[in-house]
Amino acid sequence: MGSSTNNANKEAILILGAIILGLITGLILYFTNNQEVALYVKPIGDVFLKLLKMIIVPLVLSSIFMAIINIGSPDELGSLGLRSITYYFFTTAVAVLIGLVIVNIIQPGIGVDVGAELSAAQTSKFEASSSKGLLNTIIGVVVDAIPTNPFKAMAEMKVLQIIVFSIFLGIVSLLNRKIAQPLINLMESVEKLSMVLIDWIMKVAPFGVFALMTHVIASSGLNAIYGLAKYMIAVLLGLFIHMIFLLIIGSWRHKSSPLHILKACLPPMLTAFSTSSSASTLPITMNAVQDNLGVSKKTSQFVLPLGATINMDGTALYESVAVIFIGQAYGLDLSVTNQIIIFITASLAAVGAAAIPGAGLVTMSIVLSAVGYPLQGIALILAVDRILDMFRTSINVFGDCVGTVVVDSFEKSK
Ligand code: ASP
Repeated sequence: MGSSTNNANKEAILILGAIILGLITGLILYFTNNQEVALYVKPIGDVFLKLLKMIIVPLVLSSIFMAIINIGSPDELGSLGLRSITYYFFTTAVAVLIGLVIVNIIQPGIGVDVGAELSAAQTSKFEASSSKGLLNTIIGVVVDAIPTNPFKAMAEMKVLQIIVFSIFLGIVSLLNRKIAQPLINLMESVEKLSMVLIDWIMKVAPFGVFALMTHVIASSGLNAIYGLAKYMIAVLLGLFIHMIFLLIIGSWRHKSSPLHILKACLPPMLTAFSTSSSASTLPITMNAVQDNLGVSKKTSQFVLPLGATINMDGTALYESVAVIFIGQAYGLDLSVTNQIIIFITASLAAVGAAAIPGAGLVTMSIVLSAVGYPLQGIALILAVDRILDMFRTSINVFGDCVGTVVVDSFEKSK
């Protein structure tokens, strides 16, 4: 444990250093008008992202499969699943509630100039998403989770579909142990080798993170930050309070100090910050909870892939703040009824959001249309979405880590 904690510290420090260096380099390039230099650095970030993504399919397939084999019975699997989903919904609801309270106190949208327009291409993207409606989106998520062709699901990296296929394959193997033995051996080795590969990828993480940061900062519209400072503060404050909340339950269930939990989760949180993708961060998250927090393999193998796909506290909080901000800016109806609708729809829209950059912005159109707010409002917050995505994705990933700790602690105390 001691040496793994040291490793985690070293990893976290290197990645944090890379983020700070990337931030400074990006700012220098931005203010000296040399943004194009960032394009030369970008390929390093792209290579890092691709390496992470390369591991997702074998990791999700083998880890869910092996989790089921290790859990040993469909009943236990059901209880693990139920615990995880209860945790997801509870913490997501808390996140949205925090967002709503903060945005109603700070009121960042009052007095904002609503002159901004969306381009035709952007409008059609958001309209397509909102016209589906909330119920259809949720039903769509469930129906879409079942793959018709598991190989296509893997080829297209549809994580939820891969999870469902692995669950079926795991259960049928559990019930037919003898026939499944060669497959179990194969999956066990795929899973172990994936973890070794992740260790290797972690060694180049600081370079990748530096490149991603430099590119994002150099190419962001930093001017927009000034006009939207109050809105950004509301989102960041909300995310910070939620992080404290997660830290409290994490340290309560893990029986260790909040600082220990935070340190252990820093490598995945910082990677999430620089990639803005919970899915791409999954390999590193898996590594961190097993090595740094001692979460049992069978819990993390099952709970983390599911969490990365459907548990997004940061996104849910962000959506509630953004939608109320738009309502305030346009002087729309902010009645309790509307806020309750936003509370419910933002929680569910976060479940429907893919674990990739900018996904939360797209599902936000569902929340807006549920309360009849104009989709045009998205134009007001578009400029700072990428930056806020970095923060909300970190909290999404932190929520997944804490969730695994919580579920694991209940499993162990059984
Ligand atoms: N980027 C987020 C994630 O991957 C989703 C979002 O856009 O909010 O977790």
